[in-house]
Amino acid sequence: SAVPAVPAVAADPSVCAPLAVLGRDVTVPLVTGGEVTYAALDYAASAPALQRVWDDVAAYAPYYGSVHRGAGYLSQLSTDLFENSRTTVAEFLDCREDDQVVFTRSTTDSLNLLAAALPAGCEVFVFETEHHASLLPWRDARVTYLDAPRTPDEAVHTLERALADRDPYGPALVCVTGASNVTGELWPVRELAAAAHAHGARIVLDAAQLAPHHPVSVRELDVDWVAFSGHKLYAPFGSGVLAGRSDWLREAEPYLAGGGASRKVARRPKEAGGGVDVEWHDTAARHEAGSPNVIGVYSIAAACKALTEAGFDELVAREQYLIRKVREGLAEVPAVRVLSLFGDDAPRVGVISFVVDGWNSSHFAAALSAEYGIGVRDGLFCAHPLVRTLLGGETDEPGECGAPEAEPGEKSLNAIRVSFGAGT
Ligand code: PLP
Repeated sequence: SAVPAVPAVAADPSVCAPLAVLGRDVTVPLVTGGEVTYAALDYAASAPALQRVWDDVAAYAPYYGSVHRGAGYLSQLSTDLFENSRTTVAEFLDCREDDQVVFTRSTTDSLNLLAAALPAGCEVFVFETEHHASLLPWRDARVTYLDAPRTPDEAVHTLERALADRDPYGPALVCVTGASNVTGELWPVRELAAAAHAHGARIVLDAAQLAPHHPVSVRELDVDWVAFSGHKLYAPFGSGVLAGRSDWLREAEPYLAGGGASRKVARRPKEAGGGVDVEWHDTAARHEAGSPNVIGVYSIAAACKALTEAGFDELVAREQYLIRKVREGLAEVPAVRVLSLFGDDAPRVGVISFVVDGWNSSHFAAALSAEYGIGVRDGLFCAHPLVRTLLGGETDEPGECGAPEAEPGEKSLNAIRVSFGAGT
């Protein structure tokens, strides 16, 4: 009864086979009757929280209390756990000594925070291939949108050319994704960071899709900031991270005005014009006004610990095996075209988008769910310019991240995405 109505079409069983190998230990009812082991293949949107994370949060639950302002035992303990979470995240990201870890709601929130903290006159350089979260926050700055490169080397050269033309004395920021949420392809972050720094620019890494799949070292990649979301890193929804250089963050107006961000607030005398004088914190608290999402922050730290303890080498090896299996399966189906910017051999994470010839992607995805218990995503994946490029210039224009209605059998103007991770 919980199954939504779907068009009465049968997805191609040959496509379902390579996807069904990723089935999880949950059974779901099918529209056509019976039950099946569910394959949840939308990790790039949100990965199911690890049991270890739920267990850690449950162990903390009896000690739940307000942070930073309470004198009681529970508040003290919660404050310690909250601040220790910052240290855990800094270690997870291999941050530099003087980097700040700011807790936010998500990657989107983190990048908007950084956008609000740009120094006056800052130029921003961003590839048109970015997720909307890393494409759109800079619109109030002087943004240069760079054309989609077709190789990682071309990405570096494109950036170098654009930076060579910039005002060398003004501040500049490059924003780049570590792994694409559409193709799963890895971007040459270290090389892009070197190019940015050679031209006096800074760089922020959108690690929303990279951090769940690969270790991210701020030091080794030499990026100035990194942003990621808890709910893609096997933690529950609601928390994210912006970590990196403290100077721009310290000098910026607080992202939100309120308690926690302010060190001292005093009424200004009426003779001096009235109003209030505020001294803001110059630590991460400056941008964390209001009561923080303590459980969210704690669960991010729990996920960081769980991934570190599981060992990325093993996780990556297992995920690469799954990627090979799904790609080989899909390659055997002539009607399937896998979308790729950098080519078949490019290193990638477990995010694979494709179209099926003769099928509307929305209907295909609905049928995969209802008739095979395979949960995928369809649409333009909040990366409209990139998907438009990959589909050859033509797309449907859905509402925000949504899938448009279309008749079965129409040429697909959007795509299907399967995504999974080492925790699959
Ligand atoms: N960046 C990339 C590459 C993403 O894939 C996503 C989400 O899909 C985001 C940013 C935004 O993440 P969130 O929705 O958690 O803010």
